[in-house]
Amino acid sequence: MGGIVGIYGFSKEWRMARFVYYALLALQHRGQENCGIVTFNGESLSQYKGSGLVDQVFSNQNILDELPGWIGIGSVTSTIEKDSSKIQPVVVWEPLPLALCFDGKILNIKDLVEKEKVNGENEAEILAKIFSLELEQTGNPMEAMVNFMGKIKGAYSLIVLTGKGEMIVGRDPAGIKPLTIGSFGFDYGVVASESCVMDVIGADFKNDVQPGEVYHFDAYSIERKQVLKPNPKFCAFEYVYYARPDSILNGKSIYEVRMKIGEKLAEEHSVNKGEIVLGVPETAIPFAMAYSNKTKTPLGIGFVQTGRRIRSAIKPTEFERIVGVQLKLNPIRAAIAGKKIVLVDDSVVRGTTTKNTVNIMRNRMGAKEVHVRIGSPRLIAQCPFGTDVPPKDELIAVHLNAEEVSKVVGADTFHWLSLKGLVEAIGIPRKNLCLGCFTGKYPQINCKER
Ligand code: SF4
Repeated sequence: MGGIVGIYGFSKEWRMARFVYYALLALQHRGQENCGIVTFNGESLSQYKGSGLVDQVFSNQNILDELPGWIGIGSVTSTIEKDSSKIQPVVVWEPLPLALCFDGKILNIKDLVEKEKVNGENEAEILAKIFSLELEQTGNPMEAMVNFMGKIKGAYSLIVLTGKGEMIVGRDPAGIKPLTIGSFGFDYGVVASESCVMDVIGADFKNDVQPGEVYHFDAYSIERKQVLKPNPKFCAFEYVYYARPDSILNGKSIYEVRMKIGEKLAEEHSVNKGEIVLGVPETAIPFAMAYSNKTKTPLGIGFVQTGRRIRSAIKPTEFERIVGVQLKLNPIRAAIAGKKIVLVDDSVVRGTTTKNTVNIMRNRMGAKEVHVRIGSPRLIAQCPFGTDVPPKDELIAVHLNAEEVSKVVGADTFHWLSLKGLVEAIGIPRKNLCLGCFTGKYPQINCKER
């Protein structure tokens, strides 16, 4: 799981590291374990990477000052890397120097290692070495990307920065992972996992990079090519949980989708005579707003987030998950005491967070009743495409139905959104969505069709 950005400045006056830094701050929710920036200054690649949040790793101005150049790429990731040289963007020097970052999962990585005779400690390093070989053989970045995407199978959005200052960008033909493109002025010079980056750094959002599409940027031109036949299977979980509400992905505003999810929840599972609707920050707030509008139940603010923003479902250890839950929610007693609460949340993974929240509301804050409504369908399977979903065994929805979950988490009633409700809320035909972690059925990924 990660977020990527690439910014191509068409004037050598630009100091791009600073822009990439702010872009990574905007993508921090997509990965909180590592981050890195690589820049190009006309002569060579410069890099700085580390483990931690973006503002911890790039903790002072000097670090950004030592990344010269008008082209920069960067990434945030959620996987733990012991060796900082393996943090993305990964830089390889042979046969040709380049940096690569990507979001996703490569399904045929073992075959690639064997066939291409490369090795590496992680997928990014292996991909970077393969691309470097392709670039050496073809001498042409666009051609190298065409060959490269013909070989790799999986879900990916990726950015390559060559040692000659060319930036090449590609998205897999299923478009499972998001990738958007924007511009400064007339030139399309910014690519990022989510469109919110464009707002943050003052660029104009233009479009999604389409499934199977490639962009090549150099000092003189931008070239676009449909390299692989598109077969969209956009990740539905982005709409429910991962993406920021100020992003537009695959032509759909995340905020509007989340408002529709709230309406669907109200249509499917409204609570009779609920007294107040409380959304669990931050993802479920639009769900709760729309639920409140639809059911004419007053909306309240039930929680204040304390400390640094932590996405408890994607932190890797049990200890960090517990700390994450505690940091995430500080309930407001006056909004809760003595009331029949409709508690709206985005998803239930293990049930730990929901149980903790219901327990606090009922036993410490004096709620009269707590009715839980979840803005996603039952999460019953892992993601093979690189999204951090815990092992199937640990998913509460695999083992229990709604009534049983209600008892386990201590709620009066509990309901998930239906799959149909989610698809209607997203507004993209079901055949063009990946719903694998909700159904256990995954799209077939075939990258070789052109
Ligand atoms: S399996 Fe789930 S998280 Fe993974 S791509 Fe499909 S919908 Fe998204």
